[in-house]
Amino acid sequence: MADDSIAVVDLDRCQPDRCSYECSNYCPPNRTGKECITLRGEDADVGEPDQIHISEEICLGETCGICVEKCPFDAIEIINLPSELEEDPVHRYGDNAFALYGLPVPEPGSVTGILGPNGIGKTTAVRALAGEMIPNLGQWSEEANWDAVLDRYRGSELQNYIRRVMDGDVTVARKPQYVDQIPKQFDGNTRQLLERTDERGALDELVDRLSIRAVLDQNIDNLSGGELQRVALAATLARDADFYFLDEITPYLDIGQRVTAARLIQELAEDGDRSMLVVEHDLAVLDLLADTLHVAYGEPGAYGVVTSPKSTKNGINEYLNGYLNNENMRIRPSAIEFEEHAPRESAKGTPLLDYPDLEHSYGEGEFSLSVEGGTIYHSEVLGIVGPNGIGKSTLAQLFTGDLEPDNGELDFLVDIAYKPQYIQIDQPMRVDTFLSSITDDFGSSYWNTEVAQPLQLERIMEQQLTDLSGGERQRVAIAACLSEDADLYLLDEPSAHLDVEQRVRATSAIRRYAENHDATVMVIDHDIYMIDLLADRLMVFDGEPAVEGHASTPQEMRAGMNDFLADLEVTFRRDERTGRPRINKPGSQLDRKQKREGEYYYA
Ligand code: ADP
Ligand code: ADP
Ligand code: SF4
Repeated sequence: MADDSIAVVDLDRCQPDRCSYECSNYCPPNRTGKECITLRGEDADVGEPDQIHISEEICLGETCGICVEKCPFDAIEIINLPSELEEDPVHRYGDNAFALYGLPVPEPGSVTGILGPNGIGKTTAVRALAGEMIPNLGQWSEEANWDAVLDRYRGSELQNYIRRVMDGDVTVARKPQYVDQIPKQFDGNTRQLLERTDERGALDELVDRLSIRAVLDQNIDNLSGGELQRVALAATLARDADFYFLDEITPYLDIGQRVTAARLIQELAEDGDRSMLVVEHDLAVLDLLADTLHVAYGEPGAYGVVTSPKSTKNGINEYLNGYLNNENMRIRPSAIEFEEHAPRESAKGTPLLDYPDLEHSYGEGEFSLSVEGGTIYHSEVLGIVGPNGIGKSTLAQLFTGDLEPDNGELDFLVDIAYKPQYIQIDQPMRVDTFLSSITDDFGSSYWNTEVAQPLQLERIMEQQLTDLSGGERQRVAIAACLSEDADLYLLDEPSAHLDVEQRVRATSAIRRYAENHDATVMVIDHDIYMIDLLADRLMVFDGEPAVEGHASTPQEMRAGMNDFLADLEVTFRRDERTGRPRINKPGSQLDRKQKREGEYYYA
């Protein structure tokens, strides 16, 4: 086939005992007697003898694609690689397996960001850079060796780094992506976990700045996701390493905590020439954090390309534009755009519910919440912002009737569908069985277009809920919530563990759902870009976390953003080319001017 195509067979999906090899029966070369699709046979390095193998030499490429259509289990991908991609892969896991092109370049003393979807090879690249795996340069049948890798990168920015990896001279510290898994791997309390990693003697400072002193003696099993995230950050940053890899730092953290985490990472880079590599999907935080950026693109699960480094500003702009300039590569049909000016006063529809001032306290001396009464309208998306521990979930539970207010009465009768921040869908059940138990619309063309497609559920329908990754669980949980028959949909942190592409898709699915169903959606989130793209109005929480909280009445976007960001002392300017919001340097001229004028967001 064309040199620039690859065939990828997902061996977890290829189930020859449940099909009759329609792929090979219909494959045009096979029909003329060639051995394009064959059985792996007894000698196969991976997979079962009766699973298929596709010859990339004989296959006709993506324009044929008959086997892709015929396979009932979506096990086959035939992909024409972009012609701009001139090099061979850095690593290929095997025959008909995932291929990675390009590697990020760790820079001593600086923070390198990676921006791209999940399943695109970021972990693979890091394993290579950490020296845990020798990249095979696409020659999977031969034994890989570092000399060949060094040859390939001679004269490039990676040469010195690779030489150090070869000499065993690079020490590595990592923060895993899914912090929710930590309790399964560690038995003990926070202090015990952290003391094992305190190689720099910096633990005390990290504990204070990440505000985790209060949980030091708590068992890891009892920590919330936000606490686990900060403990994992402290454990990683306390190590004394040359190369730090942080796979997502923001899930479950509020904006203040996100900014603190970003500063800690930058400070560590500057202290002692350490290289920091960060994968992050909250673009405002990535923008603040990274000195340079690699964009990763491709086809998740099939191939991934890591670009050469770009300036953070250009990298994010090009990514949002959907077009990579140097690579001459379109990665998305259209651009992602932000509104530069506060939306006009939203034309309010019919009210869904009115609620009075409310108060709730968990008991004498415990957290108390006061809520300013207001009106919520049909077909609107109401953004809810504020720090962690300020009473957002408490309000959600007042609205769902799980909690009774101490003062004020909720007399509305609306059905509420609720997606909690920490998702618990651990039944041993398939995704399709689970979702079809929620709605009779499951599988209808309308449900497929509105819910399944934008949330990319097709490929995971047959998986067990217990086997899903964090991002997959999130998408199933959003789908489950939107599939309920309700008047008010309440989503707590839908962005957690979604990559940027998935955040944008989920955002438009949620918005469209509100419009088409005359439904009201309330979204609690800390990703300011997501809130910007989603919300018609804002409800702002302030107060003292864990002590007392106050919820404002729903406000117009401009007033709401000003209220929220003034509390955080963070201002945003606009990128001159794309209009996207960028966090100002604290104390910069613009920052001071905007604060004086009280314009924190739509300046
Ligand atoms: P990311 O970190 O971007 O989510 P990974 O590097 O973990 O991506 O994985 C990229 C792809 O490589 C995935 O589709 C995964 O299934 C595949 N992959 C990872 N490890 C192996 C392996 N040992 N053998 C075959 N395929 C693998
Ligand atoms: P948010 O959703 O803004 O993070 P929450 O509403 O979950 O905040 O919690 C606000 C405060 O109330 C936190 O300090 C939390 O520990 C406390 N809290 C939550 N539930 C209870 C409870 N059942 N009993 C006592 N305190 C609680
Ligand atoms: Fe055969 Fe390739 Fe066509 Fe698949 S895409 S049917 S392997 S020629």
